[in-house]
Amino acid sequence: MIINQAPFSDELMFQRILLKISGEVLRGASSHFIDSQILEQLVLDIAQAYEKGIKLCLVIGGGNIVRGAKAASPHLARETADLMGMLATVMNGLAMASALQSKNIPAKVVSALHMPQVCTTYEYQDCLAEVDKNQILIFAAGSGNPYFTTDTVAILRALEMKCDVIMKGTQVDGVYSDDPRLNAQAEHLTTLDYQEVLTHNLRVMDMTAITLAQENQIPILIFNLCKKGGLLEALKGRGKYTLIQKEKK
Ligand code: UDP
Repeated sequence: MIINQAPFSDELMFQRILLKISGEVLRGASSHFIDSQILEQLVLDIAQAYEKGIKLCLVIGGGNIVRGAKAASPHLARETADLMGMLATVMNGLAMASALQSKNIPAKVVSALHMPQVCTTYEYQDCLAEVDKNQILIFAAGSGNPYFTTDTVAILRALEMKCDVIMKGTQVDGVYSDDPRLNAQAEHLTTLDYQEVLTHNLRVMDMTAITLAQENQIPILIFNLCKKGGLLEALKGRGKYTLIQKEKK
């Protein structure tokens, strides 16, 4: 099924979503790991979607704290650096869960790594049942394995949790033919298929993530999460965003 955009409708395009938030979005312009104003805005936007009855899963990156590939060095094994990156996603997840709970939104961190004093360990059946009951789950610690990114984990958890779409919230309103900050002629791309993303190496998500989405035909919507109300607007098919899905026949 090809998803048609509904630019002037109040109808929501998706009912069960996985929202991917990178660590960079969480940091914003702040010199701290997490910008409290951004966190507050994200919580309000997530609350808006939740109140519309949207079933929400979240994957939050850790790039605002540690990225394994960058942190690794001759004195720090990549596998250890990646574990540090996974722990960073747990910290971000805890912050988001706490901020949502402060607004009485039911949110819980679920970790791929076992850390019972900190949060629940991921268990597929339990999580699926909780999402069905409108519990917001924040999937932390990535896949529990090194050499993966949280983009790939976002696709994986979206598939497992039977989500309709992965919504990747960024600081721009989708994908452009060139960097719009450097090239005023850069064209905004409203729809793309997975193959175009792979062939042109459009850096919206890493290749492993796009390939997993392509193999399982789950759409990815790239939108501006830093704009107030951006999540609901994108869910209504309004404003600018990029939808990546299967090839149009
Ligand atoms: N990570 C990992 N395995 C996973 C997911 C993440 O080892 O399954 C580590 C990896 O080091 C990565 C870091 O966690 O760099 C933070 O995730 P990511 O870079 O995807 O965060 P984002 O760029 O979305 O903020």
